[in-house]
Amino acid sequence: MARIETPRPIRGTQDIFGDEQRRFARVLEAFDHVRRLYAFQRVDLPVFEDTQVFARSIGETTDVVSKEMYTFEDRGGDSLTLRPEFTAGVCRAYLTQGWQQYAPLKLVTSGPLFRYERPQKGRYRQFHQIDAEVIGAAEPAADVELLAFADQLLHELGIAEGVTLQLNTLGDAETRDAWRAALVAHFEQHRGELSEDSLVRLDKNPMRILDSKDPRDRAIADAAPDIDAYLTSEAGTFFEKVTKGLDAAGVAWTRNGRLVRGLDYYRHTAFEFVTDRLGAQGTVLAGGRYDGLIESLGGPATPGVGWAAGVERLAMLLAEPKAERIDAVIVPMGEAAEAQAVTLLADLRRFGLAVDMAYKGNMKRRLAKANAMDAAFAVILGDDEIAKGVASVKDLIDGTQQEVELDAVGDQIRGGLARHGRGAMEGWTLFAPADFFADTPSQ
Ligand code: ATP
Ligand code: MG
Repeated sequence: MARIETPRPIRGTQDIFGDEQRRFARVLEAFDHVRRLYAFQRVDLPVFEDTQVFARSIGETTDVVSKEMYTFEDRGGDSLTLRPEFTAGVCRAYLTQGWQQYAPLKLVTSGPLFRYERPQKGRYRQFHQIDAEVIGAAEPAADVELLAFADQLLHELGIAEGVTLQLNTLGDAETRDAWRAALVAHFEQHRGELSEDSLVRLDKNPMRILDSKDPRDRAIADAAPDIDAYLTSEAGTFFEKVTKGLDAAGVAWTRNGRLVRGLDYYRHTAFEFVTDRLGAQGTVLAGGRYDGLIESLGGPATPGVGWAAGVERLAMLLAEPKAERIDAVIVPMGEAAEAQAVTLLADLRRFGLAVDMAYKGNMKRRLAKANAMDAAFAVILGDDEIAKGVASVKDLIDGTQQEVELDAVGDQIRGGLARHGRGAMEGWTLFAPADFFADTPSQ
């Protein structure tokens, strides 16, 4: 028989399992928790859009649009792109769904994004972000609220230590034009020393030279003029309100005058939360104000501000997460017991307990499974128990064992969990009422 080759996974994709999966889940749980505290609504959007959604808003000369997008023609001949970021799609939805009526709108989303990049630690072709946006709010208070949200999330995750909020302003249109001219004049003097990439940027988007990682550009970029001398009084006042608001809200920040963002649409506030714990991939959360983006998508002038954070990078910073535990394992010995165990298992789960069944091997092996799953109880069903209509409930924490009527097993375990101060499903609302078990006719 011909050997069948198993297809390989795609380069830069991940199969997220076990410890990594728990880290991921922890990030998403904390994000959902904090977004509720800040009264942000969740939206879920398509993973692909008309290519124009990204090309027009992000900017044709950016790395993302010029070389990282997964763009393809579908069977109908339309050019589609797998989303490389969230903001453009959120703004597209805001316009096409008529969400203007809800402005200012505070939204979050999360999920997979796609960029054709060289895969390495903390950098994938399918990666994941959490994302928060405020659309339709021109006030600096919106920037402050988003930054406080981000800051609280990092604290909630226990990774705020060693992470710094770096803040800058990119000014308004007038500021940008004046600063841009000054930057061009400065970089023109060093034309011969700049990297090839930066020579292209010099013509198309000189601000991005400031962000260059190429060692040939660094000294020249560091000597470039600051934006501060070119800030209009409106832009200066705006930035001051943001920094005052952060101080008032107790959010620590530092100024980084070199910080520009990789996408073209940013205005005024730009920021990154940066750590030195992840080597070259040190930005864990980044964003800014994007007044102008919605106009580039054909909408009316609409202010917006937002951030996104890489879930993989946040997950890597987390301390070892606790393994998921269960409340009980049922151990049936013999055929009659196995039949009885099916009913008991279903009843206990409907009662809101996390329970698994240990089918395989001798008693010792089955109890080992209960321990491996960090169960608090083993419910043993053998021929003796079946004859008496009971189960032996073994408390795996204090070692005691008791025979309990079948329809009292749920309450017995509940009581034990309360005594030990643990329950696998704590914090969950029960679908079934607490007295469900007592009302269920046992066969
Ligand atoms: P970088 O400079 O690292 O390429 P970026 O400026 O392209 O980052 P953004 O577009 O601002 O990144 O995305 C926000 C966050 O998303 C990043 O700070 C990072 O945590 C994460 N991120 C971006 N690209 C990737 C990727 N290819 N793999 C994993 N995470 C990523
Ligand atoms: Mg990038």
